[in-house]
Amino acid sequence: MKTIESAFQELFTTFLKKEEYSATFVDMIQHCNRVIQLELPITLQDGSYQRIRAIRVQHNNWNGPYKGGLRFAKDANEEECRGLAIIMTLKCILLNIPFGGGKGAICINPMDYSDADMKTICETFTEYLIDVIGPTKDIPAPDKGSNSRHMDYMVCHYYKFHQNPMCWGAFTGKTMLHHGSKGRDYATGYGVFLCIRYWFEYILKKNIQGTTFIIQGMGNVGKWSTYFLWKEGARCLAIADHTGYYSMKSMDFGQIYPHVAELQPLDGVQEKFKENLQRITKDEFWQTPCDIVIPAATHLQLSVEVAESLSCKIVVEGANCPCFSEVDALLKAKGIELIPDILANSGGVVVSYFEWIQNQIMEQWDENKIDSKLEKQLQETFSTFLEMKTHPSFTNYTNREILFKIALDKLFYLYKTKY
Ligand code: NAD
Repeated sequence: MKTIESAFQELFTTFLKKEEYSATFVDMIQHCNRVIQLELPITLQDGSYQRIRAIRVQHNNWNGPYKGGLRFAKDANEEECRGLAIIMTLKCILLNIPFGGGKGAICINPMDYSDADMKTICETFTEYLIDVIGPTKDIPAPDKGSNSRHMDYMVCHYYKFHQNPMCWGAFTGKTMLHHGSKGRDYATGYGVFLCIRYWFEYILKKNIQGTTFIIQGMGNVGKWSTYFLWKEGARCLAIADHTGYYSMKSMDFGQIYPHVAELQPLDGVQEKFKENLQRITKDEFWQTPCDIVIPAATHLQLSVEVAESLSCKIVVEGANCPCFSEVDALLKAKGIELIPDILANSGGVVVSYFEWIQNQIMEQWDENKIDSKLEKQLQETFSTFLEMKTHPSFTNYTNREILFKIALDKLFYLYKTKY
């Protein structure tokens, strides 16, 4: 069965074979520095006892402390975290952020637990990792299934051990009262939107207004990506979440936005807008003719069959690793452009970095400052990407390989100066 790690490593290995990096470097970059498996003993509020599996993977820290999301997902596993941790290392150095790559998971469905039980789980996780996480060691952030409240519980508990305001930067994606950053909530979706905007401005030489898109996932990444595209005048034709797939052809996203903003499951929203928000099949969803397809739900959603059936111009990876490895070449052959995850969904980690800086210098920046710094950072990376994309030496590279090359060349330089 294909896994995130195997899908990613297939693409990565194909790319690495083309390049002339040293064998030691390649081995180091394909493996993780540390994989921590935890079995958290948890006594729940009702007195019952559970042993909960958790994982933290630290891939590489040549470029700075490990940084990466912490997901709450029952089926999360070590190999998934390893693949995602490598992606984080590449993402951070690609965006010129002084962090390495990490990833973690607590293997539960957070919906199965009360808030008080979640607090215990978050605190126990923090305690078990107390020596290996921290603002200069490893900095978790929210990911699939986790949110800023969970980060608050963790940072408060971390503080109990260290009693030092400098440790607020041990977690990012916190609420404002716990020294979070303005703009972090929407940063990933805003980054997805910015990448699309730059693509239209710099490559297609037109604006987004009137373009059409479909999007899978209405969580943090999906809802904000949709919101910013819709505000700019793009039209959302279909949406999806874990409850199903829905056509938006007869309605405007603005009508359902208040419900989506509260993260209401789409089957409930559909009940309210029966006439206009119509259920469709998964195949009908992916086959919807449109300009942009955004998988923003979870990994490995675009199989070869799904990719074959797409009728669009651009695929934008809002989620991490949403495509099977064969899909890159297939899209290129079909003339469909791909904006890969390490660029498309990097807005979140960029603003996490801003949160970490604010914690270090004890400042709180306003939204304008955050947004314009994010725009600048993404635009610079996009320009570097564009320069290579239009250079004759890189015509045989996929867009993902171009981004790999930018990131890996920098990492190789760090390696050569360190070893
Ligand atoms: P989330 O938990 O907030 O939302 C996930 C959404 O996807 C929900 O609407 C859920 O119903 C839907 N979904 C889940 N499984 C599905 C399936 N099989 N079919 C259809 N819909 C499904 O998660 P998120 O934070 O939005 O993250 C989504 C993806 O983006 C993940 O791959 C995550 O790693 C990646 N990502 C998130 C961030 C961030 O800042 N949150 C940053 C970078 C990358």
